[in-house]
Amino acid sequence: MSSDVGVVGGSAAGLFTAHLLGRAGLRVQVLEAAEDFDPRPRTLIVTGQMNEILGGVGKNALLNEIHQFELFTDGRAARIALRQPDLVIERSELIHELAAAAQASGTEILLGRRFVSIEPRGQALSLHVERSQDAGAEEVRVGTVVGADGALSRVARAAGWPAQATVPLVQAIVRLPQGMSPHTTRVWFIPEETPYFYWLIPNSSSRGVVGLIGQEGPATRQALERFLERQRLDPLEYQAARIPVYSKWIPVRRRLAGGEVYLVGDAAGHVKATTVGGIVTGFRGALGVAEAILKGRQGRKLGDLRRELNLHWLIRRALHSFTQAHYSRLMDLLNARARKDLEAHTRDEPGQVLWRLCLHQPRLLLFGLRAFFHW
Ligand SMILES: Cc1cc2nc3c(=O)[nH]c(=O)nc-3n(C[C@H](O)[C@H](O)[C@H](O)COP(=O)(O)OP(=O)(O)OC[C@H]3O[C@@H](n4cnc5c(N)ncnc54)[C@H](O)[C@@H]3O)c2cc1C
Repeated sequence: MSSDVGVVGGSAAGLFTAHLLGRAGLRVQVLEAAEDFDPRPRTLIVTGQMNEILGGVGKNALLNEIHQFELFTDGRAARIALRQPDLVIERSELIHELAAAAQASGTEILLGRRFVSIEPRGQALSLHVERSQDAGAEEVRVGTVVGADGALSRVARAAGWPAQATVPLVQAIVRLPQGMSPHTTRVWFIPEETPYFYWLIPNSSSRGVVGLIGQEGPATRQALERFLERQRLDPLEYQAARIPVYSKWIPVRRRLAGGEVYLVGDAAGHVKATTVGGIVTGFRGALGVAEAILKGRQGRKLGDLRRELNLHWLIRRALHSFTQAHYSRLMDLLNARARKDLEAHTRDEPGQVLWRLCLHQPRLLLFGLRAFFHW
C-alpha cells in the first residue's frame, strides 16, 4: 500500500487533517487502531469557533447550547452571560461526521490498523502496522506521516519527540439538579481539592456531565465521587482518559531521512492549559499542519496557535498557585465592566480577554501577577 500522506489516528484531529489534505488533491490514508468506527461517547464543550472552522461538518453533534456560566467559590457566586453561546457536543457523532467528510474528499480510512514503527525507505517512509483482525502485519509507504494518535502518541515516540506530561480527566453523567437551567454551566473553584475546577455542563434538558481534571487517576475519580456526594448527584456512568498538559510549544514537524513527520491534536499537545480543552485547538493545529504540508513551509496559523497556547499556559501558571483567598478576591473583583469582557470574548481569545480585563480592572492584573510570581 502507498499514499502521499499516512495519518495515524482516526479521531477528531486526524480526520480533519485528512479531509483538508484530501480536498486539496493528495492521496491520503488514515490508519486507525480501533476495529469498529464506534468511538466512545464523550460530552464536550467548545466555543462557537468550532463551527467557523468546520463549516457545516459536525452540525448533528450539537446537543445543547450554553448561554451563561455560574462560578462558585467559598460561598460566593458570580454569573457570566455569554454573548455567543458555547456548544455542547457529542464527540462520537462529531467523529462520524468528520470521517464522512474525509471520505467524501477521497481519503481512505483503514480500521483495525495499529501503527507500530516507522522506517526510512529512500525518499519515502515505511509505516509498520499490525492488523487487529488476523494479527497480521502490513507495510504502508508514504511521503509524509501525520501523527494524530492522541496524548500517548506512538508516532511521536518513533520519530524522536520526547514523551509529554499527561493528566487524567474524569467526567460523570448525572441528572441535572432540580431547577437548574439546561443552558447554564456551573464551575466550582475549590483550590484545596484541585488546582483546576469542577464543572457541571448540561448536555440535554435533564442530564449533564460533572467533571474534574486531576494529577493522578484513582485519586481524581475519588475526589469526583466525594464532590458528587456533597452535591447530592448520582453518577449514572463515567467517561475518562488522559490528556496532555501544555507547558511549551514543541515544533510539530521533523524530517526523517527522505520523508516528513507532523503531529496534530493531543499528539502535538495542542490543548489549552487553562481548561484542558483540545478540540478547537486540535482543529487549528490541523489547519496549520495541512497548510505546511501543502505549501511546503509553515504559515501563520501555527504561529497564531502557538501564541495562544502560550498565553493559556501563562494564565494556568497563575491559577495553579491560587489559594482560596485569591479565588474569593477574584470573585469580588469581578465587577460589572470586567464581567462584560468575559461575556464578550470566548476562551479561544485569551489575549483579548486579558487585555480588556486588565484595562477595566487594573487590580486584576496586579492580582494575576502576584499569583504568577508566587508573592
Ligand atoms: C472526559 C474528557 C472530556 C473532555 N472534554 C473536553 C471539552 O469539553 N472540550 C474540549 O475542547 N476538549 C475536551 N477534552 C479533550 C478532547 O477530547 C481531546 O483534546 C481531543 O479529543 C483530542 O483529539 P485527537 O484527535 O487529537 O486525539 P484522540 O481523540 O485521543 O484520538 C487518537 C486516535 O488515535 C488512535 N490511535 C492511538 N494509537 C494508535 C496507533 N498506534 N495506531 C493507530 N491508531 C492509534 C486512537 O484509537 C484514537 O482514535 C476532553 C477529554 C476527555 C478525556
